[in-house]
Amino acid sequence: MPTYDFACKACGQKFSLFLAIKDKDKATCPACDSREVVQRFTGFMFNRGGGGTTTPSAGGGCTRSSCSGCSGC
Ligand SMILES: [Zn+2]
Repeated sequence: MPTYDFACKACGQKFSLFLAIKDKDKATCPACDSREVVQRFTGFMFNRGGGGTTTPSAGGGCTRSSCSGCSGC
């Protein structure tokens, strides 16, 4: 069975559960028993990065298609 990462909306607890796909809706927070949990999608790059400097938007939102006054892009 795959591991799913969840975050509790009630208390903020982050946790992982081994769940069958059909049981994903039954996930509950281990800290407060809340059913208000959301699944977290953590990509591999996010987990491996460490430095957090690979974010594409680090430049401040300037893109080629929208920027008309910047010569740096
Ligand atoms: Zn909780």
